[in-house]
Amino acid sequence: MHDFARPRSQTALVEIASAHSPLQRHWVSMIAHQTLVLGAALMAACSESSSDVGKSAAGEDASGTGDVSGSTDDGTDGQDGTDGENDAADGQDATDSVDGTDEGDGATDEGDGATDGTEAADGTDGAVSTDVSDRVDFDPVTTDSKGLTPELGFTVPEDAISFHITAVTAGESGITIGLLRDPEGTFLVPKAWYDSPLNQGPSLCTGCRIRVAGAESAQGVLVPNTTEQSVKPGKYKLSFFTYTTAQASPFEAPVITPVQKEVKAHVLIRRSASGAPTESILALNLHFTGAGDLTAANAPEDPRIEQALQTFKDIYAQRGIAVGEVRYKDIDAGLKKIESISGPGNDLATVARLTEGNEEGVNVIFVDSITDSSSPFAGFGVILGIAGGIPGPAGVQGTAKSAVFVSLQDVSGQGGPSAEVGFGQVMAHECGHYLGLYHSSELSFGPQGIHDPIPDTAENDMDNLMYYSGAGTTLSDGQGFVLRNNPWVVPK
Ligand SMILES: [Zn+2]
Repeated sequence: MHDFARPRSQTALVEIASAHSPLQRHWVSMIAHQTLVLGAALMAACSESSSDVGKSAAGEDASGTGDVSGSTDDGTDGQDGTDGENDAADGQDATDSVDGTDEGDGATDEGDGATDGTEAADGTDGAVSTDVSDRVDFDPVTTDSKGLTPELGFTVPEDAISFHITAVTAGESGITIGLLRDPEGTFLVPKAWYDSPLNQGPSLCTGCRIRVAGAESAQGVLVPNTTEQSVKPGKYKLSFFTYTTAQASPFEAPVITPVQKEVKAHVLIRRSASGAPTESILALNLHFTGAGDLTAANAPEDPRIEQALQTFKDIYAQRGIAVGEVRYKDIDAGLKKIESISGPGNDLATVARLTEGNEEGVNVIFVDSITDSSSPFAGFGVILGIAGGIPGPAGVQGTAKSAVFVSLQDVSGQGGPSAEVGFGQVMAHECGHYLGLYHSSELSFGPQGIHDPIPDTAENDMDNLMYYSGAGTTLSDGQGFVLRNNPWVVPK
């Protein structure tokens, strides 16, 4: 392992995007909204600024802070079960009504909108073959006036060990799984979870058995994304919710409005007779925009990229994941700087969509810098990296979220890692998100922190790769399990 320059407290890296800190409610919502639109970003910023934000936010509505913190904590601990049952009951009703009204009761595979397995995958345009046993492609479905699709279903075989759902909608509307129910009737994602005060709108379900994060345009869901859950054979039910988000100011809660949209979704189901894999391979597609004078031709010999790849390999090797094929590609959207990361025609989506037709693997795009002109944090910090989701789409390329972005901006003078080490670390952290890992611990402005749903990741351990600041390099066993469940990470 390399010895990383590790910024500590006073000049720490502060990751904003995926921070689910229990601030007062509006701040929670606003930050969660960031998560929604950008998945996750590493930001270099002075901690003084971040502390100021925390104080002013807390000062704005102290009682709100307490309430929200308490609720959130309850949601992830004791109250989770209760909430789940309540939601389950709600969901059961909804299931009945949905089945009753739209003849979904036919309950045939066609009725569920699912086509069967591998043949569909072969015939689907833009589909990327992955090393999974089954692929279920749903017929396109349109959400109703409540923003919900009819319930869909798919059957998981006895030897399934994990599955990954990808849902894509046109434009930059928000999309999230609306519910997910396992064959025993347990709601892994309760119906209308985004309405629960325990969660953060459609951006993050902290109280769900399977934590999910809504996204703009394309969403991935990995099951299981914690060692506390496992896949059960039988028929799963799910629906999707499409929405828009508007926010009058950073201090007001975002307004979520359902929209009617077409949703295309598929499920990749990994099967294994021998259980979860312990040794796997991840392929990478590295893309060069001309930023840092790097091209597909010169990057393989460039010391910055060589060092970054070595750092990345060392980190993932800790949990049995080897880097397989590395492809070097030029990508040209006329953009070396990413200046918008959400909303119609944003730079991030424009570049990510150029990955269509790529071979399987996680797409990494190197740019000069990443800023978000629409963010209330604009000017607050430097975004070092950003992931297309937690997890990002799988089994398809060319969506608005089909990439991880890494900034080549040198932030070593601002408390960030040195350039050579930093790229690899940022790449590893963002790919961790893309493959399904949440922050091991979020930046906590209040008494309660928010931690990932994996039991063996140490809390507030800044050495962990997925610690919010992005300055760590270690991965727990449980994090390795989650990474190896992702369809992009192929068993050896
Ligand atoms: Zn992160």
